Amino acid sequence: MSTQRESRQSRPTPQPPLRPTYVEVDLGRFDHNVDVIARLLPEGARLVAVLKADGGGHGAVELAKRLTLDRVAMIALALIEEAIELRRAGIALPLLVLGPLSKEQISIALDNDVAIGVVGPEELEHVCAVAREREVIIHLKLDTGMGRMGVLESELPRVIELVRATPRLRLDGIYTHLANADDATDPFTEMQIANYDRMLATLREHGIEAPLHHFANSAATLRGLVRPGDFARVGLALYGPRRIETAAGVIEPILRWRTEIMRLKELPAGHAVGYGTTFHTKRPSRIATLPVGYADGYSRLLSNNADVLVRGRRAPVVGRVSMDLVTIDVTDIPEAVAGDEVVLLGDGITAEELGQRSQTISYEVFCRISARVPRFYRRPARPAT
Ligand SMILES: *Cc1c(COP(=O)(O)O)cnc(C)c1O
Repeated sequence: MSTQRESRQSRPTPQPPLRPTYVEVDLGRFDHNVDVIARLLPEGARLVAVLKADGGGHGAVELAKRLTLDRVAMIALALIEEAIELRRAGIALPLLVLGPLSKEQISIALDNDVAIGVVGPEELEHVCAVAREREVIIHLKLDTGMGRMGVLESELPRVIELVRATPRLRLDGIYTHLANADDATDPFTEMQIANYDRMLATLREHGIEAPLHHFANSAATLRGLVRPGDFARVGLALYGPRRIETAAGVIEPILRWRTEIMRLKELPAGHAVGYGTTFHTKRPSRIATLPVGYADGYSRLLSNNADVLVRGRRAPVVGRVSMDLVTIDVTDIPEAVAGDEVVLLGDGITAEELGQRSQTISYEVFCRISARVPRFYRRPARPAT
């Protein structure tokens, strides 16, 4: 027993060859998207890169390393853990955690030089308690209609009292979040912005102002709703859920998810494929098996319901997506052979398309790509300036 342990220690654990299923993120395109969005902003407005959920599955650290103060004003995250990860990776840019944060997390945020997006009166109370001892930088969130996070109009008197009683509280920003900005015909956005302005005016009447204001997410920014001098909090558009043409250039998808044909087999007409036998060949067919499955984040809802690219051509997913495997029909791509690259996402198959097919949005398609899928980064020849 002990000899066995010794011999195991003396040899390094063998690393298996890399699995053929991995994600490539094009950092040059990310730089480009950042620049396009920055150019869309009006006079004096600045970009806040929202890199929550590990940069929507793209890798927050690698993306953050591309950003500099001349390109973005700040990086926003959802969790304090996400902010700490960036600090540990040496990211020195201003960080904002959208929260909410617990009492204990407030001190941790301060220790890591992270601004706090305060989302309610209770959190503000905790923040103000800490601000008796040390300066605390916050951005105050207003609920202008979304009913989720933020201070309600009815809660403003309490907030005003707290802020006025706490001199070491540094109110750097006041912001809100839009519920329906992706629908240009929905008057809800206009109503939310009107509510925001009215609440800002109330705060101002009571001597509470902040140098920074922000309400626009990707959708609002692309619609040109950002005001001069404001911040724009942009996440999704940085990744390119699809190709988006704008007045300042084209936003391109930066992520490519690929695998390879593991095995190809000829099946006669009438043969079943996969769990539940949901697919039967209608003709003699060439069915290819791919080493990717729902455990990698390729949704089971894509069973019999998506295309992949083989040799630049679309091939349908047939049968159920299982945990580790997907089957596709390459009968109409006779040149296909085992070992061929297969593109699951990218090269024209967009996150938006997979989202529509799997009853969700592009964001969730990105976020679902699981941790067991390695991420690789394509770096531009020239470093970002
Ligand atoms: C996620 C988020 C954003 C960014 O939204 P996108 O649609 O990714 O641009 C902005 N603000 C808040 C509060 C968010 O939670």
